[in-house]
Amino acid sequence: MLGWSINLFRIFGIQLAVHVSFLLLLAYFGYEGWLEGGWLGAGWSMLLIVLFFACVVMHELGHSLTARRYGVRVPRILLMPIGGMAEFDRIPRQPRAELLITAAGPAVNFVLVVVLLPLIWSDLWSEQAVPRYGLETTLIELTAGNLLMGAFNLLPVFPMDGGRILRAMLARKMDYLKATRRALLIARIAAPLLALGAVYFLHAYLLAVLFLFIFFAGDAEYRQLLRREQEAAYWADWNRRVLLEQAKGVGQGGEPPPPPTVYHGPN
Ligand SMILES: [Zn+2]
Repeated sequence: MLGWSINLFRIFGIQLAVHVSFLLLLAYFGYEGWLEGGWLGAGWSMLLIVLFFACVVMHELGHSLTARRYGVRVPRILLMPIGGMAEFDRIPRQPRAELLITAAGPAVNFVLVVVLLPLIWSDLWSEQAVPRYGLETTLIELTAGNLLMGAFNLLPVFPMDGGRILRAMLARKMDYLKATRRALLIARIAAPLLALGAVYFLHAYLLAVLFLFIFFAGDAEYRQLLRREQEAAYWADWNRRVLLEQAKGVGQGGEPPPPPTVYHGPN
């Protein structure tokens, strides 16, 4: 399903792609805007979504460019209706590296809030109501959107940013796998509760879907981590045997298997 995407352009050498379902989201917001405000409403609604996702890209770039400083390869950033995903070839095991890479995403959102705030400051305190569609409203919604995006991603639900930060903090005190299991346990309890809360209190079905997605993404990442541990143990054992055989004058060397892709997201 992740394959159904359209490549847009490269940014800092990273391929930016959108999932085809993103176009449905754009059309949906265009339609909602059109119902409420005609073509003007449709235009502003779609512009808001595009700008909002530009902020999602900046959030992902925050993760990606920090990750590259730690030697992580980032081939692609994929945008989906539920958010963005940066594809990493690996996630560093050092808690400090994971902490900085993860915190860089929400930090970008908070910086954007600080940058946007002076632009909307007078509108916020104005007696006059701002028009439903227009630059002022778009900037206000964009500021609120960034504030929400930054705060929301800090929820400690692995593999969301907050969950990764939690894992990195736990990993300072215990084994990496155990820290992941702890973070995952919290996510397994919190994600379904948050999904229910999203439906019951907010009637936000897309948000509920996002939490369910996160629930399964956490499981998938943990299984991938376990598989890597087993693979690493297998190749360590294999290498040991090859070295032993070479010492005896028989056997051949070989290439270790290529690393699978890890997804840093969704956000
Ligand atoms: Zn993030």
